[in-house]
Amino acid sequence: MWFRYLIPRLRFDMNETVSPEIEELLQHLYAVQAEQAEFHADFAPPELLVQARREGWVEAGTESHRLTPAGFDIGRAVMRRHRLAECLLQDVLVAKPDRLNDAACRFEHLLQHGLDERICGLLGHPRTCPHGRVIPEGECCRRARADSIREVAPLCDGKPGDQGAVAYLATRDNREVQKMMAMGILPGAKIELIQRFPSYVFQVGHSQFAVDRPLAEIIYVHWRKSL
Ligand SMILES: [Zn+2]
Ligand SMILES: [Zn+2]
Repeated sequence: MWFRYLIPRLRFDMNETVSPEIEELLQHLYAVQAEQAEFHADFAPPELLVQARREGWVEAGTESHRLTPAGFDIGRAVMRRHRLAECLLQDVLVAKPDRLNDAACRFEHLLQHGLDERICGLLGHPRTCPHGRVIPEGECCRRARADSIREVAPLCDGKPGDQGAVAYLATRDNREVQKMMAMGILPGAKIELIQRFPSYVFQVGHSQFAVDRPLAEIIYVHWRKSL
């Protein structure tokens, strides 16, 4: 599978300082506080609230479960990783939509210590998750905006003359992946779209290739901004 090629390049750092249960709690309280989500007691068990207060993440001595600034930052970061994980699962790993939330809940705890920035970069610093909710911005997103990186979009959305680098292949079909890897279409490879009709012609390295629309739809590119 495509992601087997992708994932070993990312290093996981499992030195967690906040337990997944507390992360879920702070994420929920962040949604309540910053996004006017409805409060659900199921997501805020009393024993976890006690623990979060003791750690200084939830205001002590109140019944409102308001986050402290430190707790708010953690909740926001967990929400960011959750929605990035959803994008990753949908766009790169081509997960089924109904499994997105559960899988993202498990995945988000792994995207720590800079890994979220690399996933964010891979996806072209998306602003919303597949459900259309806002992804809290990271430092990498602010840097990318100042840089010349445009959103990630499929090859079929490019104009002749547009240049960029391959971001990922959105397919779970092994034959398609092998076919494209044989052409040198790998993440990071420089790519230029030459023509769109009657087929999509593009250059990778010193070779030119022609593909039909279905293949042009699954090659995702970090387009450089046109000058
Ligand atoms: Zn979502
Ligand atoms: Zn980013």
